[in-house]
Amino acid sequence: MSKIQILDNSTITKIAAGEVIERPSSVVKELVENSIDACASQIIVKIKESGKKQISVIDNGTGMSKDDLILCTKRHATSKIKKIEDIFSILSYGFRGEALATIAEVSKMEIISGLKDSEFSHKLILENGKQVDIIPDTKYQGTTINVYNLFYNIPARQKFLKSNSYELKRIIDWLKTISIPNYKINFKLYNENNLIFDYKITNNIKERLQDVFKLNTIKAEYNDAIINSQVYYTNPTDIKEINENTKQIFYVNNRPILNKTISFAISKAFESYIPKGRKPNAFVFLDINPNIIDVNVHPQKLEIRVKDDNTFFYATYNAIKNSLDKGFQDNSERKTKIISLLSDETEKNELNNYLNNNNKKLNDILNFSNNLQNNQSKLNVDSKENLIYNNQEKDLQNNNLQKYKILGQYNNTFILIEDLNQSLLLIDQHVAEERYNFENYLNIFDNDNAIKQQALILPLNLEIDIEYLHIFSEYQDIFFTFGFDISLLKDEILVRSIPIILGRIPSKVELKEMLLDICNNIDQKEKLKTDNIINNLKVKILTSLACKNSIKADTTLSIFEMKRIVDNLFKTKNPYTCPHGRPIIIELTKKEIYHKIGRI
Ligand code: ADP
Ligand code: MG
Repeated sequence: MSKIQILDNSTITKIAAGEVIERPSSVVKELVENSIDACASQIIVKIKESGKKQISVIDNGTGMSKDDLILCTKRHATSKIKKIEDIFSILSYGFRGEALATIAEVSKMEIISGLKDSEFSHKLILENGKQVDIIPDTKYQGTTINVYNLFYNIPARQKFLKSNSYELKRIIDWLKTISIPNYKINFKLYNENNLIFDYKITNNIKERLQDVFKLNTIKAEYNDAIINSQVYYTNPTDIKEINENTKQIFYVNNRPILNKTISFAISKAFESYIPKGRKPNAFVFLDINPNIIDVNVHPQKLEIRVKDDNTFFYATYNAIKNSLDKGFQDNSERKTKIISLLSDETEKNELNNYLNNNNKKLNDILNFSNNLQNNQSKLNVDSKENLIYNNQEKDLQNNNLQKYKILGQYNNTFILIEDLNQSLLLIDQHVAEERYNFENYLNIFDNDNAIKQQALILPLNLEIDIEYLHIFSEYQDIFFTFGFDISLLKDEILVRSIPIILGRIPSKVELKEMLLDICNNIDQKEKLKTDNIINNLKVKILTSLACKNSIKADTTLSIFEMKRIVDNLFKTKNPYTCPHGRPIIIELTKKEIYHKIGRI
């Protein structure tokens, strides 16, 4: 006797059901997608015991004729495609004609459906995938599907279902997800006859996002001949702490999908705007010619294959990056928030007193640049500070200062200020200055395609470990572009000039740190053309110079140094994170403080 048997149809469908219908939320997904494909403008989902006992989906879509109703639960019964090529131009959610057949196989099911102009609707009753009865019902345009006792005939699968609260959450999550691109449809969900939500029709995705996720989003776009992308993201400065609830949902032609390339593109685009390890809320909608994607690669159609993965990457990345860069350029909102609580007069008086007491320093400042060129030995670390006060005075004259009240310094590391909203801001002095320097250097570099050099009258010699020496010889021109003129000796290097942007002569130790940092950033595994290296490296190198050239933590600051740092910080495009992605400002609102104290 042969061991091999051909499985009967019912068994085949039950096996296939495992792939499409895993749990109550998969039933909701398939039924709601059918309602959307049927052009419904209202979809009501009612569940009992989180869908384990009953799932009903009621729509006001096109409905089905009696003949179609009889056919719709047969395997491979679909009105959406006729031949295989059709799936490469598909824009409907369904097309395989298997959902109703499989759900019917693993539950007790009723379908009531009627066409617009028919006198009656019809009710089809099914058990174990087989038609039990079909009877006329009252006039109704649309389709109602009731699914009872899911998996009653596959106990093994029933055991895999989780708690009611878990299954309910899966249903809610999925309905929220699908409701976003379908903002022209009213969605309602009832659990045990309690209304869970009622998403009214909105004018656009942004409004639906507000309604569903309570998120105020910014819309970014990118369009070209192949792909259009729309990304709705929340302002990175709103991300105050690591949030488990962060939402990132991606849609291709309005179909929710999982895709690593898109999440990678989001993190890349936000890289210098939010602290490492944090995620922004982002909803990505990609519209692409269906011809160049394959949606038939996953049983639940949760993944998509695209001819070139880069398409998804650049469409997402470009939309977000352009929008962020632009947003921070004309973000005057942030700046106006910081308004003085000290009157201008008080400020000027304080400054004048300070400057009068420091006349000697002031004289030094005025000669700073000459000194740097002609009399290097006279310079000391102080010069930088002096230059600062000079600028401070100029800024005051130009009436160009950001206004707020400085409260003091905490732990010689944080500047404390109070803004007009009476929020308490703690500003990390080192990263604040680093952010300002970095943007400054980047501007200078982008204007000149290089950093100007400041010749040293007495070149500095630095001992260098052998493994770094060959980097200096091989990439001499790169160091030159960034302002360092370096010659090689046997086991040391001679630094003849330094980047003028440093505004001071660093100590030997500092200089060595800067140079080795650059060496470490030059990726020697990849032999690139000099131009490419420079472009790849400029952010890293300028970040490193900015970092090394900024006031360190644990340094006592005068009120004027604090003011300069804060003013400069608020001139930057992105005052909230340092170029390494760490946060710069901690904001405690009046409400938070009063709440903690128990006053409100
Ligand atoms: P698919 O969606 O892949 O075509 P389904 O098994 O989900 O397969 O549905 C089979 C067919 O039944 C659909 O193609 C459609 O013609 C019809 N149908 C299903 N649900 C509805 C509905 N809510 N309104 C109108 N027609 C429906
Ligand atoms: Mg379907």
